[in-house]
Amino acid sequence: MSFVGKSAVVTGGGSGIGASAAMRLAAEGCKVAVVDIRMQDAERVASVIEAHGGTALAIAGDVSREADNEQFFTQAEAALDGLDMAFLNAGVIQRYGPFDQMPVEEFDRMIAINLRGPYLGLRQAQRRLRPGGAVVVTASAAALTGFSDAAGYSTAKHGVVGLVRSAAREFASRGLRVNAICPGGVETPMTGAEQQHSIVAPDQLGTPPYRGNLTPQMVAEVALFLLSPAAAALNGQAQLVDAALLSAFPPAL
Ligand code: NAD
Repeated sequence: MSFVGKSAVVTGGGSGIGASAAMRLAAEGCKVAVVDIRMQDAERVASVIEAHGGTALAIAGDVSREADNEQFFTQAEAALDGLDMAFLNAGVIQRYGPFDQMPVEEFDRMIAINLRGPYLGLRQAQRRLRPGGAVVVTASAAALTGFSDAAGYSTAKHGVVGLVRSAAREFASRGLRVNAICPGGVETPMTGAEQQHSIVAPDQLGTPPYRGNLTPQMVAEVALFLLSPAAAALNGQAQLVDAALLSAFPPAL
């Protein structure tokens, strides 16, 4: 999975899955634009990459805003001498659970960040990525099944799969692949876990804790595979990344 000479935009790159993917891409020789709404976090990840001899650029941006997408893709393309890949990963969890407790504004926030965000990123990627490039969008296991107390989140993530499948058809003529990953539970700040800023090589990942949460590094590895030419046969897929949680051990409802 050599990414030497390639360059990528990673949104939500300041934390969790995005931070792990940014660091692993850089460890494989990729130049990375680490985009996050929290600039301090993006800068921290970029500095870890640079400390390991990689090339990284931290950029502040809100994925739900069209002008921000235009700005951070433009900046990344110029600074990294073109773009090959985009990992559209930024997302937020729903603050209020049950239908009758969720304000309409919260539903709108889910759609704006978790669905319009990837849509706006895909529009930029279609125009800017070099042929042979690839996009991976982070959906969720909640994109493939309904989740209690997460209707807004699950709805937005279901939408991401529709976006990815449609973009895959349309972007193929430009030589680009588009896939989604659908993680189960992952130990990141989103699920209350500590922020991690270390590069973990694939051979250090250990045995998946079936029925338990995955580490962000495990999920990042799958994103890297889908971004790599080794996944040339995969396009328009929504890959469940859940250590068999849904597919082999579905929770009793
Ligand atoms: P995280 O909170 O560690 O990282 C998310 C990052 O996105 C943060 O750095 C945050 O600042 C950034 N972000 C949030 N809103 C943004 C915006 N509007 N513009 C730009 N950046 C923004 O969480 P994570 O678990 O690494 O989440 C990454 C993705 O994985 C999300 O799309 C999430 O929905 C998805 N996901 C997470 C889990 C899980 O269990 N953690 C499971 C399935 C899917």
